[in-house]
Amino acid sequence: MTITAAHIIRFIETVAARIKEQRDYLTELDSAIGDADHGVNLDRGFSTVIGKLPSLADKDVGTILKTVGSTLVSTVGGASGPLYGTAFLRAGKVAANRFELNPAEVVAALEAALEGVQARGKSTRGEKTMLDALGPGVDTLKAACANGEDFVTAMRQSVAACEAGMHATIPMLATKGRASYLGERSIGHQDPGATSTHLMARALLDVVESLHL
Ligand code: ADP
Ligand code: MG
Repeated sequence: MTITAAHIIRFIETVAARIKEQRDYLTELDSAIGDADHGVNLDRGFSTVIGKLPSLADKDVGTILKTVGSTLVSTVGGASGPLYGTAFLRAGKVAANRFELNPAEVVAALEAALEGVQARGKSTRGEKTMLDALGPGVDTLKAACANGEDFVTAMRQSVAACEAGMHATIPMLATKGRASYLGERSIGHQDPGATSTHLMARALLDVVESLHL
């Protein structure tokens, strides 16, 4: 299976539309353990990204992803802007000058995104952040591809691991980001960033599944 620049554009459009749909839900999650802006922040960023897509129609995957990353860094307030921005910028670096990616290259781009979030956030798994969804998602995708699964199956397993990771943030104590200010009171709430990461993973799966039909 090959992921083309047009598929990446469709992925970004899907993410933007779902963030708009889920904006209030994401913000509600952030109101429990943060400052009630996660959905609003991401919607602002991805709405700006949508405005730039027409100029990216004939560009390579690297340019598309890097434009998304730099737009998120400059328009999304809060921690999630620089973190998601870095993720897209790092993935874009791996995909530089490529008009299509094979599954191994998608895995490499996602691994670079994961490393970027860890480096930018000075964070690791188990701290009740987006990493608790992104980490298992990327690991599972890599392992499934290494086991010879076809890419659709590998992506389904990846999204299931990402979803489990998102739910696993509920009982966690937050030790990074704004939620950590709450200490023990952060326990019992699902992390907003892990939730938006799952939304993005699901959007990628939907694009991949649509190619499989
Ligand atoms: P802010 O917390 O600045 O208001 P957002 O509400 O947009 O920013 O995003 C909050 C999300 O960002 C959290 O739910 C968490 O998943 C993620 N996050 C915050 N700090 C870090 C970090 N250091 N590393 C990884 N993810 C983080
Ligand atoms: Mg917030």
